[in-house]
Amino acid sequence: MIEDFDELMPRVASEAQRTESDNDGPEGPKCPECGRILLSTSSKLCNWCGAVIHDAAYQKHAAEERAEFDAHEQRKLIVEEMKDQLIQQRMRSDLI
Ligand SMILES: [Zn+2]
Repeated sequence: MIEDFDELMPRVASEAQRTESDNDGPEGPKCPECGRILLSTSSKLCNWCGAVIHDAAYQKHAAEERAEFDAHEQRKLIVEEMKDQLIQQRMRSDLI
């Protein structure tokens, strides 16, 4: 669980920021186990106690958030690859 924590924190922090600017009201979904407000709405589990959130609407939303995050990461990779290719092309044409 500790290794996951380091990986999760940047996502949790950025999501906490985004949630603040959203108009979902001051309180997000709460964990049914520990009753604390969830920091991340993209995790299947409570960020505090690790309990599974048994809420179909929440889980659907969480899955959507994860898909959105993955798509964003994917786009970033593609852009980086395109940049590399452009640089290589430019270098080759400079040599000729
Ligand atoms: Zn909890």
